[in-house]
Amino acid sequence: EGGLYLVATPIGAARDITLRALDVLNGADVLAAEDTRVLRHLMEIHGIPLRGRRVLAYHDHNGERARPALLAALAQGASVAYASDAGTPLVADPGYRLALDAAEAGARVHALPGPSAALAALSLSGLPSDRFLFLGFPPSTATARQTWLRRWLAVDSTLILFESPRRVNRTLDDLCQIDPNRLTVVARELTKKFEEVIRGPAIELAADPRIPTLKGEVVMVLDRPTPAAPDADRVRDLLRAKMDRMSV
Ligand code: SAM
Repeated sequence: EGGLYLVATPIGAARDITLRALDVLNGADVLAAEDTRVLRHLMEIHGIPLRGRRVLAYHDHNGERARPALLAALAQGASVAYASDAGTPLVADPGYRLALDAAEAGARVHALPGPSAALAALSLSGLPSDRFLFLGFPPSTATARQTWLRRWLAVDSTLILFESPRRVNRTLDDLCQIDPNRLTVVARELTKKFEEVIRGPAIELAADPRIPTLKGEVVMVLDRPTPAAPDADRVRDLLRAKMDRMSV
């Protein structure tokens, strides 16, 4: 069936791809990717032949130029599969204008759900997942980042942000200026060999020896501002522990 297929691809482990994604990559009339080599490599790993199909490049720098050809193919009823380098297209990745223009031109737009670094980090973070806000990358300059953090840290929601491993340090320092006790999770290299999750109040993470030498890809997940009121069970446990200490 014709239409635009937004294909989620692995964020590390190559086998994190859905059967439907493989079907669509196998059957699409037109293949497009943020990085054509990355998609060709993924198809090769899963034994999907190109069968004469070219993989067209579609990324932030050529979107304007590359879109017309893809929209023309959609207008002719072709199926177009689009994948970004990793994870879900459009999520801090290219594809938004393509999906918008395709929808406005009357083409069907299909999402092929799959890996997403933001949701993978949220799900293992142990932080509340009933309400969350995905913030993308923080600004890189100091003043812009502080203003940005101050604004979003006030929101009553779990916060998910992408950060370069070299900047986690600085972001934690900025966070400490505003809310040193904010429970923070640094999740790196998810689904990969060196997957690691570091968890604690911002002030503790800022002093953690692993943070300055962090490598790989990182997602930070921050708790909401006010910790939930302790539930009755927890209050009882705390009281009991205190009484035990007093009785020794
Ligand atoms: N569209 C992608 C997704 O849905 O996962 C995100 C693309 S964004 C350009 C790349 C950022 O995602 C990285 O800088 C990092 O913050 C995060 N990321 C991607 N893969 C990751 C992984 N395996 N572990 C931790 N973070 C990852």
